[in-house]
Amino acid sequence: MSSKMSAACIFCKIIKGEIPCFKLFESDKTLAFLDINPLSKGHALVIPKHHGEKLTDIPDDQLSEVLPIVKKLAAATGGSDWNLLQNNGKLAHQEVGHVHFHMIPKPNEKEGLGVGWPMQ
Ligand code: C5P
Repeated sequence: MSSKMSAACIFCKIIKGEIPCFKLFESDKTLAFLDINPLSKGHALVIPKHHGEKLTDIPDDQLSEVLPIVKKLAAATGGSDWNLLQNNGKLAHQEVGHVHFHMIPKPNEKEGLGVGWPMQ
């Protein structure tokens, strides 16, 4: 199934290359990039390319790569600690209406205020 897009969506514009991002990973179904306003160093977003506001709007086959990619990115940090967060809906403080998963590195003694991805 091909990915649904929304012309007005800022993350769809990033997927299409109309807005730049610092890309960490890309496949047919998934994109990972650095958050433009990081809560800690290395704060990344992993998004299905298929446009949908809430998790229930995304077909399973478009979501299936997300956790393996989170795992791949986590492994690339060398085992740092981080939070995985998905704000699902406006009441849950979702600001961008395209499903996205935040990977928010936690400060630690080794890395300081967050992680530097090997691809940074
Ligand atoms: O979960 P929520 O919708 O609140 O998060 C949206 C995230 O998208 C924010 O952390 C914001 O910094 C990020 N963002 C981005 N690049 C943009 C627009 C928003 O990384 N061009």
